[in-house]
Amino acid sequence: LVFEKITLTGFKSFVEPTDFLIEPGLTGVVGPNGCGKSNLLEAIRWVMGANSAKAMRGSQMEDVIFSGTRQRPGRNQAHVTLHIDNSARVAPAAFNDSDQLDVMRVITKGKGSTYKINGKTVRAKDVQLLFADASTGANSPALVRQNQISELISAKPANRRRVLEEAAGISGLHSRRHEAELRLRAAENNLDRLDDIMAQVD
Ligand code: ATP
Repeated sequence: LVFEKITLTGFKSFVEPTDFLIEPGLTGVVGPNGCGKSNLLEAIRWVMGANSAKAMRGSQMEDVIFSGTRQRPGRNQAHVTLHIDNSARVAPAAFNDSDQLDVMRVITKGKGSTYKINGKTVRAKDVQLLFADASTGANSPALVRQNQISELISAKPANRRRVLEEAAGISGLHSRRHEAELRLRAAENNLDRLDDIMAQVD
């Protein structure tokens, strides 16, 4: 999936609608302290379905909404839209019928988050799977946070393995594998019961 543009409105320090164009290749964000570099990265993670306080540097999910300054009142809502070029048609089947994917997440005070793909309401899980299959996503190693490099160096092997699995594009398979294992176990139980019944009939 090729990210082309991200639009933020009312998200953290980006109170006015703001577009960031994402050009091909490696993108670095530079600017003075406090100008919103980390907020931008958080917006990308957030629209991909990030839900943990750790990923978002805040204690409450609503902390992403512009909270106001001395000059401006706070907002009730934040939205972020990620514009994706899908001309290679690599999105999962359910969303693969157009060359452009617009993924939007909106949070409203007291009402939580909603997600849309190309204007159609979807579940958080749909958005998370879309990015997991494309080996990107809220925890993707393609987004490098401050301190993340030193964390990786000192990480436990199991956590480091997770990063490699992301890079290999197989992290979306974990939840599917879990479901398949549950089905397999149910089938094995049925077979055991069948053996018991056959033994009784003999
Ligand atoms: P540094 O280089 O110091 O890490 P940065 O460019 O990464 O800075 P950010 O951490 O992205 O900066 O932005 C911090 C700014 O965002 C602060 O000025 C903070 O007040 C503002 N900010 C964060 N959350 C909100 C919010 N909910 N409403 C309004 N402003 C916010």
